Amino acid sequence: DTIDKATTFIQPMPSQSAPIALPNYVAGELRLPSSPSTTYIDSFEPKTGRLLYSLPCTQPNDVEEAIQHARSAFRTWSKTSRSERSRHLRRVSDLLQEHRELFAVWESIDQGKTLERARIEVDRAISNFSYFSTYILHEQTAARMADGVALTYEHRSPAGVFALISPWNMPLYLLTWKIAPCIAFGCTAVAKPSEITSMSAYLLGILLQKAGLPPGVVNIVLGDGATTGAALVASPLIEGVSFTGGTATGIAIRRATAHQIRKHLSLELGGKNPTLIFADAMADASTRKHAIRTAASAAFENQGEICLCGSRIYVERSVYEPFVDAFTLYVRDKYSVGKGSMGAVASLQHYNKIRGYLQLAVEENATFRLGAVPPMLRENSNQGYWIEPTILTDVAPASALQKDEIFGPVVTITPFDTEEEAIRLANASEYGLAAVLLTTDGARMRRVGEQIEAGLVWVNCWLVRELGTPFGGMKNSGTGREGGEYSRDVFTVVRTLHLPA
Ligand code: NAD
Repeated sequence: DTIDKATTFIQPMPSQSAPIALPNYVAGELRLPSSPSTTYIDSFEPKTGRLLYSLPCTQPNDVEEAIQHARSAFRTWSKTSRSERSRHLRRVSDLLQEHRELFAVWESIDQGKTLERARIEVDRAISNFSYFSTYILHEQTAARMADGVALTYEHRSPAGVFALISPWNMPLYLLTWKIAPCIAFGCTAVAKPSEITSMSAYLLGILLQKAGLPPGVVNIVLGDGATTGAALVASPLIEGVSFTGGTATGIAIRRATAHQIRKHLSLELGGKNPTLIFADAMADASTRKHAIRTAASAAFENQGEICLCGSRIYVERSVYEPFVDAFTLYVRDKYSVGKGSMGAVASLQHYNKIRGYLQLAVEENATFRLGAVPPMLRENSNQGYWIEPTILTDVAPASALQKDEIFGPVVTITPFDTEEEAIRLANASEYGLAAVLLTTDGARMRRVGEQIEAGLVWVNCWLVRELGTPFGGMKNSGTGREGGEYSRDVFTVVRTLHLPA
């Protein structure tokens, strides 16, 4: 049924360069933007390099129209009961569950990730809706007695219309991580996925329509950052922006909205996350196996295209060489291209960016324990954007390879001598999103964990998420936290009422 609808709504492409053009989802309808100056962006399949579809680069006047629809929907949606909003979210979650495979297959084709990884992410999108569907029913606000008054209480109300902007690495997972709390807390949205991966957002529009979500509560506009995204965040009718993407874009958004003091900004940005491996974690066969596997999945899951990937590995010197050898063997066996654990990187532009870093590694005489500089690809080459997992050693701490977020299957491994040095190296970054500690020493878990400058520290694990816990980065990895009551802070305004005795 959803597949039928998907094909019905796919519009012929004006420029005819791609077989199909994806429409926007505005006011409950799937339609191409009306502006005659609309241009179209081509989107390619990472695993083959072939043209998949095109999408409109929605112009500012069409963005504004979508915001107007979100505004009029806000008038009623913000007044609906929590149980009604909860029912809507539950219905979306159930429908996503029903069409899980369709979403997973398209996400894998569109983004380049493996189908297995795409299924995990669709499951998380399902949880995003089911979690907030339940959360909203049990929401509590604080009330207390104060001097001279009978009752003091916090009253929360939905903040307004939000711009929800997401990147290309986990398209559906991240867009729904914003949409679900936004509408659960009574706000309405104009959402914009990345221009590199718009397919799942388009399918989500169809699904929201099918779920009977009132028109205008969620609008999805497609397009690039410079035109569509910039018009969306700057609009004075937008009360807040929940953004996930690169730090440079986060800075641009903050700058563009600096004069709009009231605007809520939640910025989830880049990372260059450390994984620390202490000698005790390599002491016996089972912890050693666990350490190698955890460090490897933190580095190479989703081709290293997760903001939480651990791309700087630091190993205590006494176990450095054995770790590097065992890690390299494991990664070669599990993650090499063709083994099925890693997909292709998301775009030709991103492929070339990663390739540039690998060339830099050659110029800086880094040791390639695994991987090599891949061939140069040109536009329309009809080859996929495949990069072998790459393990580099002998990289100077000041190198861009240790400092920049490469966001691909590339890790550096560096030895350390003391716990203090490990902490210092881990914190020697402009970013502070996540970290992994591998150690069996309970006291060290807390001692080191509490000194790492990162919003999330995983001890002997990676990518474990409980949706009520705060998610977000320190330093240049962002501002604001999302998850459970932290999402509530993003999407609501709070006032205190003092009632007389
Ligand atoms: P990006 O910043 O280039 O783009 C992200 C989104 O912002 C896209 O939808 C893009 O069209 C839009 N955009 C670009 N310029 C804009 C502007 N001026 N105004 C408004 N919108 C604009 O990021 P990307 O390359 O798509 O994604 C990769 C980045 O995302 C990495 O840095 C990664 O670490 C980060 N990321 C962070 C998290 C997190 O939770 N902290 C999660 C995933 C990805």
